[in-house]
Amino acid sequence: MAIATTNPTHLTSLRVNGARLWKSLMDLAQIGATQKGGVCRLALTELDGRGRDLFVQWAREAGCSVRVDAIGNIFARRAGRDNDLPPVMTGSHIDTQPTGGKFDGNYGVLAGLEVVRSLNEAGIETEAPLEVVVWTNEEGSRFVPVMMGSGVFVGAFTLEHALAQRDAQGVSVGEALAAIGYGGAESPALPVGAYFEAHIEQGPVLEANDRVIGVVLGALGQRWYDVEVQGMEAHAGPTPMALRRDALLAASELVAEVNSIALERAPHARATVGSLEVFPNSRNVIPGRVRMSVDLRAADGAMLLDMDAALRLACERVSLARGLTIGVQEVVYFSPQLFAPKLVDGIRSTAAELGYSAMDVISGAGHDAVYLARLAPTAMVFVPCADGISHNEIEDARPEHLEAGCNVLLLAMLRSAGVTA
Ligand SMILES: [Zn+2]
Repeated sequence: MAIATTNPTHLTSLRVNGARLWKSLMDLAQIGATQKGGVCRLALTELDGRGRDLFVQWAREAGCSVRVDAIGNIFARRAGRDNDLPPVMTGSHIDTQPTGGKFDGNYGVLAGLEVVRSLNEAGIETEAPLEVVVWTNEEGSRFVPVMMGSGVFVGAFTLEHALAQRDAQGVSVGEALAAIGYGGAESPALPVGAYFEAHIEQGPVLEANDRVIGVVLGALGQRWYDVEVQGMEAHAGPTPMALRRDALLAASELVAEVNSIALERAPHARATVGSLEVFPNSRNVIPGRVRMSVDLRAADGAMLLDMDAALRLACERVSLARGLTIGVQEVVYFSPQLFAPKLVDGIRSTAAELGYSAMDVISGAGHDAVYLARLAPTAMVFVPCADGISHNEIEDARPEHLEAGCNVLLLAMLRSAGVTA
């Protein structure tokens, strides 16, 4: 009995059922469907509960056993020949942004389910068991932090911390889990043999290069800051220009400086000011205080450190020039995360074997896979989405691209799980 290290020839003709995958995506998208064709299914709401119920029903119909852990992650397991082997996992999330789409997260979960259904149909048994996972609250829209379920799973923060987080109405994660019946007690199987995640790209690179498969090398590191500019409020009429300490003017200069920090480090650096709060925000008062967010991203830790220094220097420069104070507080840090080279190579060669055009990409966004990579060999498969748009009701993807990504996922998972020759 030999475990295949490459895709055995009798398996390379194996394909998923793209029409069935598409239908499942459309069926799940009915739950929380919005007028504009998107989905609003916030984490741990009644709608999320219904989406989970549908997944669990499908997984059981596909012969999987289902476990739910204490943070509500759902593990649907397809038994292998040797169930003492660590499982080969795939998955993503089914919670969405308030104005979310049909594909972000949902594709990764349902692609995993389609892999199971296709193997059932072909009568193929893997050596290691397979698991399709739904991670709780990836989006972080209702409850912070983002990627909560996978974060607890890999020990990035504690279960107690996650359960105690509250939404804007004061409902805790623990209460919300109980309300939808997904506060499980079972602990997940550890270790994990390998983790794969299929996802829409959420950016424009694949489409611009006319490629079907993105071979994801890893994810950009992220540093998030709250920056507070403290100037002096004064009457907009009597105060001469030279005597002002205008916090919004200083903040505007900082916005431009932040932009330059990334431009000077192209192509893999990003820098964004996404939120500004102006106080007192009154037409005839010189702004005395501004709170702003800064989001810095880069592919390697040294560059991210260098960008951090550049941000602090820019704040010093502006505060000196404008005679006001600027406070910088770091609120989130994710180190850059490279995926497992062996699995990444496997994704690349599988795409080539199947005749799909592919290119290497780096994920600019966070994903559950970025956490999983701390625990297990991990890789991701990206497929294009229309105009690179996601976190939007118009988010769209082509059925044939989703099918292609799922075929790559299928063969990559078989390679990791092993198939008896
Ligand atoms: Zn996602």
